[in-house]
Amino acid sequence: MTSVPTLQDKDKRFLWHPYTQMQDYAQRDLLLIDRAEGICLFDHQGKRYFDTVSSWWCIVHGHSHPTITEKIRSQLTRLDQVLLAGTSHEPAILLAEQLVGLAPPNLSRVFYSDNGSTACEIAIKMSLQYWRQTGEPKRCQLVGIERGYHGDTIGTMSLGGVPEFHGPFAPLLFHSHRLPSPYCYRCPVGQEQKTCDCQCLQPLADLLVEQGSRIAALIIEPLIQAAGGMIIYPAKYLQKAAALTREYGVHLIFDEVATGFGRTGTMFALEQAGVAPDFLCLSKGLTAGMLPMAATLTSEDIFQAFYGEYAAGKTFFHGHTFSGNPLAAAAGLGSLQVFAQEQTMAGLPDKISHLQARMLRFADLPWVGDLRQIGMISAMELVKDKQAKAPYDFHERVGWPIYLAGLKQGLLLRPIGNVMYLWLPLSVTIAEIDEITERAWQVLSDPQNIAGF
Ligand SMILES: *Cc1c(COP(=O)(O)O)cnc(C)c1O
Repeated sequence: MTSVPTLQDKDKRFLWHPYTQMQDYAQRDLLLIDRAEGICLFDHQGKRYFDTVSSWWCIVHGHSHPTITEKIRSQLTRLDQVLLAGTSHEPAILLAEQLVGLAPPNLSRVFYSDNGSTACEIAIKMSLQYWRQTGEPKRCQLVGIERGYHGDTIGTMSLGGVPEFHGPFAPLLFHSHRLPSPYCYRCPVGQEQKTCDCQCLQPLADLLVEQGSRIAALIIEPLIQAAGGMIIYPAKYLQKAAALTREYGVHLIFDEVATGFGRTGTMFALEQAGVAPDFLCLSKGLTAGMLPMAATLTSEDIFQAFYGEYAAGKTFFHGHTFSGNPLAAAAGLGSLQVFAQEQTMAGLPDKISHLQARMLRFADLPWVGDLRQIGMISAMELVKDKQAKAPYDFHERVGWPIYLAGLKQGLLLRPIGNVMYLWLPLSVTIAEIDEITERAWQVLSDPQNIAGF
């Protein structure tokens, strides 16, 4: 084994980490993880950290669940990788069948890729090509939502609305329409819960009246805009958006890359609105966080628009080297098996209400402006002034001292800007929720960890 100081040194010399200011680690060591067990990570000294962010929102049943590792192991000795163009294999086929079984009935086709950004890019490209091939080539405009996040590729950044991340690339991004964020705590149209009739969707209604026949698709993260700041909004918003898009024949793309596989309390967030999209994008939790994989589900109508004589030029020319990789597909099958054998979804309501009860006391802290939760995701928005809801500037970096204090408490916390959150694996136990929320209280209730207090 290479020694820890040597690894730290080589890390500093050879690696460039994602979403990381590397200078922060010039005089400080990165958290070097040696192994994981259940919902905990362990460093080389054996110190334990609760993985409260599910390792970037993908761990579902805890780390290295034996059912899933066994599936991968047996697949590994049979077939490691094969192209999915003109070739197929059992895990990709059986997983597709199961995904179709879980999704709304109109979604009957699965197109694989290997990360969440590509799952969304594929939906966008399919929508555009669909309209081209069905006599409506003018439908080539797209609509996204402020604070939305669909990935870091050029296409998905063009539809996203997180300027803190995507600002530098503005000259490269293609034009798309942007709706206000359904940001209830800071309602863009000045409503409150009892007066809310999703008036923030009026710009969509107006846009459709003006240019409905030129719009290809609207892309939404159902129920929670995650990377944009854990912005949770009511299901009726999705119902209203779906009714509007349907009226004007516009495709609806649901990006459930983050919310898929139980995180919001239902298998997919869309179930809480009873809305079926034209495209459903899945990734993060698809393999329970074990291997990279993504899927874009769509309808038979859309599939049929690409079906025909080769010479007709309707083929969807898109694919990735690792589309439908057999090991990843085996992991996906393993995860769905765990959902069935452990009755994961049935166990959630108790955990969700327990988490909610444990988080309540945070709402009284003078720097907690808003406390919000959906399913196993609990978030709090930190403010400089509770009455005025005065936000911290992104550059004030209110999350940094919280992250550092979290490590001391044995928690891996990774606030996004001014939003501190827990994104818990579905396998978390009631006792672990108690321990995590108590440790988080130690961090969050101490004014020394809160900028300006
Ligand atoms: C993370 C995320 C993506 C991008 O997935 P990657 O695998 O990181 O490319 C897309 N959409 C949503 C909602 C996400 O949370």
